[in-house]
Amino acid sequence: MSIPRDYPDIRDAVVRLCADFPGEYWRALDREREYPTEFVRALTTAGYLSVLIPEEYGGSGQPLGAACAILEEVHRSGGNGAACHAQMYTMGTLLRHGSDEQKARYLPAIAEGSLRLQAFGVTEPGSGTDTSRITTRAVRDGDDYVVNGQKVFISRAQHSDLMILLVRTTPREDCARHTDGMSVLLVDMRQALQAGLSIQPLDTMMNHATTALYFDNLRVPAANLIGTEGEGFRCILDGMNAERILIAAECIGDARWFTARAAAYARERRVFDRPIGQNQGVQFPIARAHIQAQAAALMVREAAALYDAGEPAGSEANMAKLLASEASWAAADTCIQTHGGYGFTADYDVERKFRETRLYQVAPVSTNLILAHIATRELDLPRSF
Ligand SMILES: Cc1cc2nc3c(=O)[nH]c(=O)nc-3n(C[C@H](O)[C@H](O)[C@H](O)COP(=O)(O)OP(=O)(O)OC[C@H]3O[C@@H](n4cnc5c(N)ncnc54)[C@H](O)[C@@H]3O)c2cc1C
Repeated sequence: MSIPRDYPDIRDAVVRLCADFPGEYWRALDREREYPTEFVRALTTAGYLSVLIPEEYGGSGQPLGAACAILEEVHRSGGNGAACHAQMYTMGTLLRHGSDEQKARYLPAIAEGSLRLQAFGVTEPGSGTDTSRITTRAVRDGDDYVVNGQKVFISRAQHSDLMILLVRTTPREDCARHTDGMSVLLVDMRQALQAGLSIQPLDTMMNHATTALYFDNLRVPAANLIGTEGEGFRCILDGMNAERILIAAECIGDARWFTARAAAYARERRVFDRPIGQNQGVQFPIARAHIQAQAAALMVREAAALYDAGEPAGSEANMAKLLASEASWAAADTCIQTHGGYGFTADYDVERKFRETRLYQVAPVSTNLILAHIATRELDLPRSF
């Protein structure tokens, strides 16, 4: 049984677009640690990065499910949407909490591709997963906020014009709840780079364009506050839930790519005078990986449907992300095993995708934190932190 294909026209068109960016393209970028500028431009020009932007602002006003279909197909084709998925998930914060004036100012330019909103700045070295402990501070001074502090693992900062930035506007100890007192600023990186923001690239095991950011008395206009001061955590959660669902869709795409590659290789590779896929020791793990991906895909769809209906989707977004990231990892492990030694050679793309998909059990939220969320929110178990 297969899950009915949603958004078939979008999926088919994305597959056609991705055919222009084959394994050689991604392999060369991976080797040189370069950003996939041409691929992102092609997605932008075709309108896929603006699917969530309402039509009145120049986008196509599609639901999150359509964005999931796009990213899943990118990954199923062997590519990597991490270079640009933030332009989709940041919409969760901007569309739901941005003012009409902010939307009118930024969205049309983002939709047409002249402005990039690809950076989402939350994580800090000192806070880790405990977002309430961020210390990057914004202090109001006249018509501006003055920002000081540091962020880490902020991806695509060198390839973005704007950044959604989470800061503390009231110290944690002065707040009734730990998650109060944080605010979201929309930072114009082009201006900020001349005026107090510095960016340091980080070397990681896959080609991810992630960076550390340093803020030294950076002035951000108070008009760029998104939502209400002190309520930034709630604004950012809408972006985070969208991010988890979209990344879960990418993991489904990865799982599909790995199982298809593994099955194709297992049909062709002959050892002991038979296709290796005739051995149940080879075929069963591939079948199991396929089953895991199918189950996870249903959860991703459920989470996206809830999100699109404006229903609370926190638990479903988390469950979708956990299941999908584990399905993609199981498929990756099976795929490399099926390929034997060849799985480790760059030419097959398996080792590259293997490295890329491993990230998603850690980022954007780690598996343990999802389990803690489900244990306490869904099962009423005592909090461990
Ligand atoms: C390539 C890459 C790109 C990224 N891009 C971005 C980005 O664009 N923007 C952004 O804001 N962030 C980004 N991140 C950061 C990412 O979201 C964090 O790395 C992730 O949330 C985990 O935080 P941490 O690395 O500080 O781990 P830590 O919080 O230090 O956790 C380390 C380990 O301990 C476990 N752990 C911690 N506390 C508990 C607990 N109470 N119970 C059980 N286990 C626990 C965690 O599960 C984890 O496995 C990126 C990270 C990477 C690696």
